[in-house]
Parts: sequence; structure tokens; C-alpha cells
Amino acid sequence: MFDGLMTQPNTGASTIQRGLASVRRHLGMEVAYVSKFVDGMSLYREVDAPGLEALIKPGDTRSLEEVYCRHILAGTLPELIPDTSRESLAASLPITAALPIGSHMSVPIRLPDGTPYGMFCCLSPRANPTLNARDLAVMRVFAELAAHEIAREVAEEETRATRLAEVREVIRDGMFAFRFQPILAIQPFQVVGFEALTRFTAEPYRSPDIWFDAAHAVGLGVELESAVLRQAARAVIRLPYPTFVSVNASPRVILAGKLASVFAGLPLDRLVLEVTEHEKVEDYAALRVALAPLRKEGIRLAIDDAGAGYSSLRHILQLRPDIIKLDMGLTRDVDRDPAKRALAAALCHFARETGCQIVAEGIETEAEFSTLEALGVAKGQGYLLGKPGDLATANGLVGLPAELRG
Ligand code: C2E
Ligand code: MG
Ligand code: MG
Repeated sequence: MFDGLMTQPNTGASTIQRGLASVRRHLGMEVAYVSKFVDGMSLYREVDAPGLEALIKPGDTRSLEEVYCRHILAGTLPELIPDTSRESLAASLPITAALPIGSHMSVPIRLPDGTPYGMFCCLSPRANPTLNARDLAVMRVFAELAAHEIAREVAEEETRATRLAEVREVIRDGMFAFRFQPILAIQPFQVVGFEALTRFTAEPYRSPDIWFDAAHAVGLGVELESAVLRQAARAVIRLPYPTFVSVNASPRVILAGKLASVFAGLPLDRLVLEVTEHEKVEDYAALRVALAPLRKEGIRLAIDDAGAGYSSLRHILQLRPDIIKLDMGLTRDVDRDPAKRALAAALCHFARETGCQIVAEGIETEAEFSTLEALGVAKGQGYLLGKPGDLATANGLVGLPAELRG
């Protein structure tokens, strides 16, 4: 699975920043920083140097040739230098007079595999003969804590880079196919459309929602969704009229404003757009604007997974869909669970009042089906009625001879 990609926000930087400030104050030094070695440079990640921002600030770099780190790592300079004028190598480095550096303490930060990542360093323009091994021990404790945070961050960056490469490959090579799950009208009881469900062919298998979430997390969600939608929607011209195809789209891909071109040339009145996302939508007005030209051309709008979370109800009120898809969590055991039945009944009532239709998802048993039928749902979908299958199977379900198909 895509572990580590959507984990808790990275709080490492602020933890390090806070620790840096307290160690610096504790030691009575003017400057403290955590650096990272990048291409022969020392990059200052976090800096605590009140009043000396002109001298050193986060994001600054210095060549490793100039600074003490290289010598400390090589053992030619000690980690603890209470007075730089007493260390001949330190005294001879131009930076000592330039900054100036009177006292200096520095310990390496190493990743779990032992590779040096950077340094934790405290310095002062003045010599400070009271600095001792105990002070250095305090710095080592902090460096270990920082290393722990940084290792987590590095692992997350690596995961992200892998995901980015994987998603790029999937888009570039079109590593996806579709399954079509029948949607049946209840009265008369017949197949009227299909939901196109994406199947990614990359190994190892991951469910579509995991792929789309991962793509969005690395900034490629809209690109992946657009590529998928372009292909999924085209199935409509390979299915007999007037069968519809229902495709899934997140608010983000809708807001990107490219769907009219993605669906160009297709009969929009035979497409249903299922808004899938379970996240909060900040700007419904923008979403309505993006949807307006598509709806004008006859595309129908469905709210997916209604009843699964609070946001689907907001979607319904704000977007006035043509179709509400009852989440399968509501369908499951609706015949036995009075609370689910009451909620499904309320949504059916709402649909009648507002002139939209209810499609119940995930129907697996006769009892669920007959309960939902009695509640007045217009359409149903689920393993009881038909599993997702390939396009040929879908065509067979509509029951028309091949030569008459679109
Ligand atoms: P969804 O749109 O709510 O799709 C319904 C999911 O329930 C599908 O899983 C389907 O295979 C499954 N399902 C259908 N009937 C039953 C049933 O009777 N019992 C059970 N247990 N499951 C049933 P799938 O294909 O794994 O898709 C999962 C989710 O991934 C979808 O939920 C949708 O949110 C997302 N997804 C799939 N394809 C696309 C796509 O092309 N674009 C976007 N943005 N999301 C997609
Ligand atoms: Mg759906
Ligand atoms: Mg759904």
C-alpha cells in the first residue's frame, strides 16, 4: 500500500526549531543551527540566532570548504572548541575572523544507517572557557532527537519520490483499464447504464481510490484523473443507445476546468459524472461554475457515497445533483437496521421533493434489494445485480445483438 504518503503532517521542523532555541539559550551561545550536507555545501535548515539574521538564516548555504564541519567529521577539529584562538586549524580558517567565531561546538547528525546527514552546531563570537564535555553531551542528546525526526522526513521524501515515479509511469504508459458495473432501473427492471470503475494494471495491485489519493498527494491527481476520464467516458460510444456511462470525478478535476475538452465529441446526455471526493469542498460556487457548461450540454451529476460522511450531504445541498448514490454502508443490512432504513427513506423523500433520483450502491442481498425497492429507490447497483465486468460483458447485459450496438 502507499504507506507513509498520507501520514500525519510533518512536525519535525518545528520540533527541531524549538529544541534548537532551548539548547542555544541553555548554553548561552548566540547562534545555533541544524545543517544538511548537499553537494559539497552546508545548507542551514533551521537556525536560531536572534538579531543575527543578516549573518545566518534558514536556506543559506556555505561551501563545506569554508566551514568547520568537514574538519570535525574528519577528526582534525574537536567537537568542543571553547576558544578558537587556541586551536591552530580553527584560527587559520578565514571564517573564524570573518564571522567571527570565538567558541564553537558541533556534533554530527547521522541517519540510522550511519551516513552523515548534517551538523548541529552552536557558536558565539566570543570565547567561552566554561563550555565543557557536559555541554557537548547535551548537544549530542539533541542531535539524536533531531536525527530521529530527520530520518522520518527523509523516509517520507523517498516514499514521495517513489510514488511520483510510479504515478508518472502509470500516466505515461496508460497502465489502467476499466470494469463496467451495471446499474439497473427498478421499474421496469432492466440495465440502463454502467459505472466505469478504473483498474490499475501496475503491480502490486492497489484499489483505484488508493491510486487516485496517491496521485493527488504528489500533485498529479488532476492529470491522472483526466487521462482516466478521457478513456472511461469513451465507452459510451461502444454501448448501445441510450445506455449511460457513469464516471467518477473528484471536485479537484472538475475545478481544473478541462472536462469539456476531456469529453469532447461524446454524447454528454449519456454521461453521468459522479462526484467522489469525501473531503470538504471550500468553494461550491466555483464548482457550480465549472459544472455549468457540462450540465447545460446534458451531463447528469451524481453525488457518490451519500450518507457515508457529512460532506456528501453538503454536496447535495450545494450542487443540486440529478442523482444521489446511496453509499453501500447504508445499503448494507438496510433490511435489518431501522436507523439505516430511516436515513435511506429520508434521502428517498428528499429526492422526490427535489426531483432527483436515488441509486442504491452495493446491493448484495435480496432482502436489501426489496427493502430499497419498497423505499422507492429508482435504481440499484451491486454484486446481487451484477459485478463489474469488461465491455463485452456489459454489452451482453444490455441484451442487444452486436450488430445493433452503437
Ligand atoms: P465508488 O465509486 O463508490 O464505486 C463503488 C465501489 O464498490 C467499486 O469499488 C465497486 O467495485 C464496489 N462495489 C460495487 N458493488 C459492490 C457490492 O455489492 N459489494 C461490495 N462490497 N462492493 C461493491 P472499486 O472499483 O474498488 O472502486 C473504489 C472507489 O474508487 C470508487 O468508489 C471510487 O470512489 C474510486 N474510483 C474508481 N474508479 C475511479 C475513477 O475512474 N476515478 C475516480 N476519481 N475514482 C474512482
Ligand atoms: Mg462511484
Ligand atoms: Mg460509491
